[in-house]
Amino acid sequence: MTINPIRLQEHFEQMSEIGKLGETGTNRPTLSPTEKQAFELASMWMREAGMTTRIDHFGNLIGRLEGTQPELPVVMMGSHLDSQPYGGRFDGVAGVLCAIEAVTTLTEQVIKPQRTIEVVSFADEEGWRFNKGLFGSRGILGRLEEGELDRADKEGITRRQALTDFGCDPDKFHESQYAAGSIHCFLELHIEQGPVLDLANKPIGVVSGISGPLWWTVKLRGMAGHAGSVPMAIRQDALVGAAEIILALRSIATQIAGAPTVGTVGALNVFPASRNIIPEEVTFTVDLRDIDLARRNRYEAELREQIEAICHKHRLTYIISEDWNSEPRYCADWLREIIHNQCTALNLDAPELMSGPFHDAMALSYATDYAMIFVRCKDGISHNPLEFASYEDLTMGAEVLYRTLLEVLRDS
Ligand SMILES: [Zn+2]
Repeated sequence: MTINPIRLQEHFEQMSEIGKLGETGTNRPTLSPTEKQAFELASMWMREAGMTTRIDHFGNLIGRLEGTQPELPVVMMGSHLDSQPYGGRFDGVAGVLCAIEAVTTLTEQVIKPQRTIEVVSFADEEGWRFNKGLFGSRGILGRLEEGELDRADKEGITRRQALTDFGCDPDKFHESQYAAGSIHCFLELHIEQGPVLDLANKPIGVVSGISGPLWWTVKLRGMAGHAGSVPMAIRQDALVGAAEIILALRSIATQIAGAPTVGTVGALNVFPASRNIIPEEVTFTVDLRDIDLARRNRYEAELREQIEAICHKHRLTYIISEDWNSEPRYCADWLREIIHNQCTALNLDAPELMSGPFHDAMALSYATDYAMIFVRCKDGISHNPLEFASYEDLTMGAEVLYRTLLEVLRDS
């Protein structure tokens, strides 16, 4: 083992104090004072590793260890330090802290790479505050969409305002973008956020690819009326329609036993939300994911048919707005091979697995080769204060990341 497990554990423990929620949880929204604090702590460790640090105009924290040939495309590693509002200590944090540990170790070993290495904590990976994720990782590649700066959070603060308050300048995004070909490859370590490794009793997994999410916002409209008087037969109850659609999504996503397809309605708003009024309007989110794009497209068509039929039955109108639609993205073979070789050298039997959750690596995949290392998390629990990865496993992951980095640097 080359990396320093004690230092790594201390970094996790210190980081978990920032935005701490209860005993083991984290609430660290993007572009918040707590994220700024987390950036300051991580920046300190980056500088200790010999890196220079900056926060770019997208709100990304970037640590840079300049290579002896700075004109070469950079090797980038990282993940995110923002969290879900009711999140854990390891999601995203693992990828940033293990990358810092890898560079710290490199510096300690007095290795002077030709290529520049950058460690990034990407802005707003989670996407809940402004209802759109992977902001920083898409931003650096010029992949933002129309109107993203005008999206507001629950308090009515727009992304533009939040960026400005954070010290960023949305009018200077171009200064923070990466030119085509300027990133040699991207490596991201992450907790699995699912139960596969835990069930197989393996600490480390090699990711084959990231399945593509389809995100909708669906709005159903019926007719409000007195809950005590309108007969059941003539109601236009938007919430009943939503309930049937939720169940329809479930049966569509489960029609092939054992397939990795998942469908979720995670948020739902009822108007006017009174016990004495038949719900007139319901807005809810739909999240449909699969590694097989053709199958996901088929399921999407089925769901549209079901929504049409259910709304017809209850005499509701509906609007489906697509918030996000991404195809599955596969990891680079040459990087997967390097990671497998490092695992073998460490006597680790590391299975290959797909990632259901999306990650910053998915955004990077449009600009460069990428690979991901998964670390087992207990019972597959994530996006929950109960999220847990052991320090032994995280140490192992950091070691695999470090050795992979060495190979990548040697290759170039
Ligand atoms: Zn994450």
